Amino acid sequence: MPTIVQKFGGTSVSTPERIMRCAHRVLEARRAGNRVAVVVSAMGHTTDELIDLAAKVTPNPSPREMDMLMATGEQVSVALMSMALHSLGCDAVSLTGGQAGIDTDAAYRKARIARIDHERLERILGASGVPVVCGFQGVAPNGDITTLGRGGSDTTAVALAAALDVAADGGTCEIYTDVDGVYTADPRLVPSAAKLRHISYEEMLELASVGAAVMHPRAVLFGEKFGVPIHVRHSQKPDLGTLIVPEEQIMEDIVVVGCALKPDLGRVSLKGLPRGAGIQAQIFEPIAAANISVDDIVQTEFGDATTIAFTVEHGDIADVKSVCQELLGRLGRGEIDVEVGLAKISAVGTGMKSHAGVASRMFRALAEAGVPIHNITTSEIKISAIVDRQHGERGLQAVHDAFGLAAGEAVTAAMQSSGRGRR
Ligand code: ADP
Ligand code: ASP
Ligand code: MG
Repeated sequence: MPTIVQKFGGTSVSTPERIMRCAHRVLEARRAGNRVAVVVSAMGHTTDELIDLAAKVTPNPSPREMDMLMATGEQVSVALMSMALHSLGCDAVSLTGGQAGIDTDAAYRKARIARIDHERLERILGASGVPVVCGFQGVAPNGDITTLGRGGSDTTAVALAAALDVAADGGTCEIYTDVDGVYTADPRLVPSAAKLRHISYEEMLELASVGAAVMHPRAVLFGEKFGVPIHVRHSQKPDLGTLIVPEEQIMEDIVVVGCALKPDLGRVSLKGLPRGAGIQAQIFEPIAAANISVDDIVQTEFGDATTIAFTVEHGDIADVKSVCQELLGRLGRGEIDVEVGLAKISAVGTGMKSHAGVASRMFRALAEAGVPIHNITTSEIKISAIVDRQHGERGLQAVHDAFGLAAGEAVTAAMQSSGRGRR
C-alpha cells in the first residue's frame, strides 16, 4: 500500500473551515488506498505573531526560548487537525516533532534534522491511523525543542517521507500550499508567471535558495538525496500541481526555468584588513560557527590592505556585526561598514550549463529596466545580481520577460543557441 505524506502550510490551515477541508483531503487519499501521514504548519501568521510577541518582551530573546515559543504554533494546528479527522471517523494521533522521533542538532532556530526514529509513526500507520506531526520542530541532543528555520515544515514533511521510504511503494510527499504549484517566478510579484508542470530537484533547490519561498531549500535537498517524489499543489483545488523530479525525467530543453527575488539583504564590508594567507578563514570560520550563511563574497586588494565584502540576510546583520567586531578587535586593525536595503535577482536553469549568452541577456534586461547592478555571482545553473531593494520587483519582472517565462514563451536551448530568443 503506498504511503503519502501530506503537508499543509499555514494559509491552508488558517481557519477551522480550512482545517476541515484539509482533513477531507486526507480521507480522500486514504479512500484511494494509501496510508497517510500528515504534517502541519502553524495556523496563518501565528509564527510571525509569536515572534512579534517576543520582541515586545525583549529585543534580544534567547534562541532557546524563541524555539520553545515558536514551536507552540504547530502544536495548536496538529491538535485541531487530529480533532477534525476524529470528527470524520478517522483515527488520528497528533505528535510533536520529538514524539514523532525527529532528532536535530543543537542549533536553535536553524536546527538540522540528524535522524528520525520512525517507529512510532509506523506503529500508528500500521494500525490504520493517521499520525499528524508538528512541522518545523525537533528535539536537540539535550532534549530541548528546536526549530528548523522559517518555512521548515516542508523539510519535516520530506524528511518523514524519506524516513518512511514512501518512494519504495509508489508514494509521494504532497506539499499543499496557497498556490497551485511552482511558478516561473513568485506569482504575487510577477502576475504573468507560468506554472511549471515539473522542475528538477537541482533547479528547485537553487530557486528556493535564492528566494522562491514556495519550498524550503533543505526539503528539496532531502527529496533529492532520498529520491522522494514531491508534488507541490493547492490545498483548496483538486488540480495537479508541480512535480519535483530528477533532471533525467524532464524532456524539455529550457535554458532558464525560473527567476526569484531575495528582498532583504545587507552587505557587510570589512576594510583595511591585513593581506596574506589565512585572513578569509579567520573571518568566515567564526561566522559559520555562529550558523550564519553568507553569500556573494567579493575581495579586493589595494596597497597592503584587503577589503572583503559579503551579503547576509537582513535578520543576520546584528549577529554578523558582533562576530566581525570581535574579530577586528583581535586583529587590531580594520573597520566594518554595513549597507542595508539590497536585494538579489536570480535566474535559474540547468540549460545554462551548456548554453552561452544567458548572463548577457539578463544584464541587457536589467539595463533596459534602468536597474543598476552592484555585484554579480554565478553558479553552474544560476546567475544572480545584487541590486537596490527598491529596484527588486521591476528587475525581476524584466528578467522574467527577457527569458520569455510567461506562459508558453520560454526560451528553449535551440532558440538560445541560434540567437532566436525573444530578444
Ligand atoms: P505555506 O504556508 O503553504 O508553506 P508559503 O508562503 O511558505 O506557503 O509558500 C507559498 C508562497 O510562495 C506563495 O504564496 C508564493 O507567493 C510564494 N512563492 C515564491 N516563489 C514562488 C514560485 N516560484 N512559485 C510559486 N510560489 C512562489
Ligand atoms: N510555521 C513556520 C513558519 O512560519 C514553519 C512553516 O510554516 O513552514 O516559518
Ligand atoms: Mg512554506
